Amino acid sequence: MRYSALKILKEGLTGNKGWKPAWREPEPKAEYDIIIIGGGGHGLATAYYLSNRFGISNVAVIEKGWLGSGNIGRNTTIIRSNYLLEGNQPFYELSMQLWEGLEQDFNYNAMVSQRGILNLIHSDPQRDAFARRANAMQISNAGSVLLGPDEIRRKVPFLDYDNARFPIQGALWQPRGGTVRHDAVAWGYARGADRKGVDIIQNCEVTGIDVEDGVVRGVQTARGPIRARKVAMCAAGNSSRVAAMAGMRLPIESHVLQAFVTEGLKPTLPGVITFGAGHFYVSQSDKGGLVFGGDIDGYNTYAQRGNLPVVEDVCEGGMAIMPMIGRARLLRMWGGLMDMSMDGSPVIDRTHIDGLYANFGWCYGGFKATPASGFCYAHLLARDEPHATARFFRLDRFRRGGMIDEKGVGAQPNLH
Ligand SMILES: Cc1cc2nc3c(=O)[nH]c(=O)nc-3n(C[C@H](O)[C@H](O)[C@H](O)COP(=O)(O)OP(=O)(O)OC[C@H]3O[C@@H](n4cnc5c(N)ncnc54)[C@H](O)[C@@H]3O)c2cc1C
Repeated sequence: MRYSALKILKEGLTGNKGWKPAWREPEPKAEYDIIIIGGGGHGLATAYYLSNRFGISNVAVIEKGWLGSGNIGRNTTIIRSNYLLEGNQPFYELSMQLWEGLEQDFNYNAMVSQRGILNLIHSDPQRDAFARRANAMQISNAGSVLLGPDEIRRKVPFLDYDNARFPIQGALWQPRGGTVRHDAVAWGYARGADRKGVDIIQNCEVTGIDVEDGVVRGVQTARGPIRARKVAMCAAGNSSRVAAMAGMRLPIESHVLQAFVTEGLKPTLPGVITFGAGHFYVSQSDKGGLVFGGDIDGYNTYAQRGNLPVVEDVCEGGMAIMPMIGRARLLRMWGGLMDMSMDGSPVIDRTHIDGLYANFGWCYGGFKATPASGFCYAHLLARDEPHATARFFRLDRFRRGGMIDEKGVGAQPNLH
């Protein structure tokens, strides 16, 4: 069933009786060409591009919970392509281009909203760093503008310009940045993959990876063994646990990141705003809630809930640039599991086990990467060679010393 304005009109006039489930609930088959472990954004996008772009549909996505139960349904929905380094910037720009055509491509309303992202500048060295980043963005045609205080004041007059501890000196503005409704991304990709015959199997935990003589043979699941020619790990915050099933130790740590939503307010924020002297980012959802977050909690955990010190820290960050946020009541907060890598950048690569592939290390920026990650992972699985744009995201770069350290903080996962 294709969704269209005409279809909505027809259903509206005939009692909404013609809608079908957006994807099937199939029984697992005994064998697939490819099994994807993890039905988050990246796993579902991979299945979508495998079936829709590379003609491979004998694929199962195996998800231990329900679709959207992981980070894809927990993030603060920000998309941007404002990176600096050669390994990252073209990749995130590819992702941005895929976001721009996504709703037409998978025929689903994901509420892609390019209202812009404003990274505030509070010091001279920070202005230099952002100017450099703006130039890197120009090279990949990502679009970047450096704004002065007067221009920012016109755009977002409610920020604290006059009494702030960290005065706002300028901003890096990417007009194409913005937000996307996160769970709709999972649903759209799931529906698009299902339509091509991909089996999406929910509530089915992978409990083991079968390897014989260095070759992957399939997986053990809560619903029995399933054979496969290729197995693609895509479990974000649980990546180290899944890889351990194949005897691998990954260069990541899992940390919790929290998100917060206030009561609905009248339209206030024109786009995404980030604080440059602390860790705070905020946007406004279509329902009016201010959606914001900050730093990870800073300890290793697999629990999807955070603690109070970071709540305080995030709220302080908000108050430092936007005192009016103190009047808003907080309605909801939650946590998600971040696969923090040693250099802050991801991995999309083969492993030393024949037929076993790895996609992890998205830290707390993997939502914006969802389309490009899915596309490049599908390319790797289908053609057995990395996509040119993701060629730097190799697993052996930590051994080779080929880090992609965007923040320049070294092998310290909690700081990336
Ligand atoms: C609070 C918060 C805010 C964030 N904000 C942003 C943001 O604004 N912008 C941005 O770009 N990024 C953001 N991120 C990061 C982004 O959400 C993640 O990097 C990205 O979603 C990770 O990829 P995923 O969607 O595939 O992960 P997930 O949705 O977590 O998918 C992994 C899936 O694997 C499943 N799984 C795990 N183990 C098994 C198993 N053994 N068997 C079967 N299935 C298994 C899990 O249940 C899960 O559904 C944020 C994250 C959080 C938590």
